[in-house]
Amino acid sequence: MSTLRTQLSVEHKCDHLFKVLICGDSAVGKTSILTRLVSNKFRVAHIRTLGVDFMMKYITVQGQRVQLKIWDTAGQEEFDAITSQFFKRAQGVLLAYDVTNSRSFHSGLPKWIKKLKENIPQFEDAKVPIVLIGNKIDLEDQRVISHSEGLKFAQQHDMAYYETSCATSINITEAVCGLVERIMEEVSATSQSMTESQLSPKEDAEKKHSIELSKSCSDCQCCKWKCRCPRNM
Ligand code: GDP
Ligand code: MG
Repeated sequence: MSTLRTQLSVEHKCDHLFKVLICGDSAVGKTSILTRLVSNKFRVAHIRTLGVDFMMKYITVQGQRVQLKIWDTAGQEEFDAITSQFFKRAQGVLLAYDVTNSRSFHSGLPKWIKKLKENIPQFEDAKVPIVLIGNKIDLEDQRVISHSEGLKFAQQHDMAYYETSCATSINITEAVCGLVERIMEEVSATSQSMTESQLSPKEDAEKKHSIELSKSCSDCQCCKWKCRCPRNM
């Protein structure tokens, strides 16, 4: 009972609720990144994620308490139809490859970018921040994609770039905080442009409501636009 009360009070105190997606080829370490982030654990065995799964993480960035709901997608093509549905409402993306696996970089990344473009409506306006993650840097002797190659790709596609290791825990939190910072910038820019643009009263109310919901996760019971409510995503 007291645990439930504590959990609820933590949820009510967060300043933002963001929905984020992690994608990339199978076995690049997506589930391991989330497990390291949420439980600080690392498992050597590869257990295939089926379809989609999600993990919650509370994180404080720039003094703001953020509740992150991170969708973990399956990298296998047989789940494409399922995973695509979860792309639509993503506010940020962690795009991962394995620095020891050339295919996950050279053919994996373009394939995932194409899929993000096709499924995230705001993608073309660069409204959805992406962080590129080169994972497994503890396996330095097996590395086939250099740091500069990864960085160049990220710069060409307007992404932040982090190299990580789930085995040693290097840069996992930093990469996720980097994404959250970029989402917060985007939310505040949207909020700014909203006051400058000329919207009809209905559009104005709807847009203000959806921004308020992304800022505070404590008060969406009265939601008139349920389909937009982050709690329903
Ligand atoms: P996913 O299919 O992308 O979710 O990949 P998993 O998280 O299941 O990881 C696939 C395999 O890579 C597992 O055997 C993990 O133990 C391993 N792995 C993941 N991240 C790392 C890492 O940073 N270093 C090393 N050495 N192995 C990793
Ligand atoms: Mg997985």
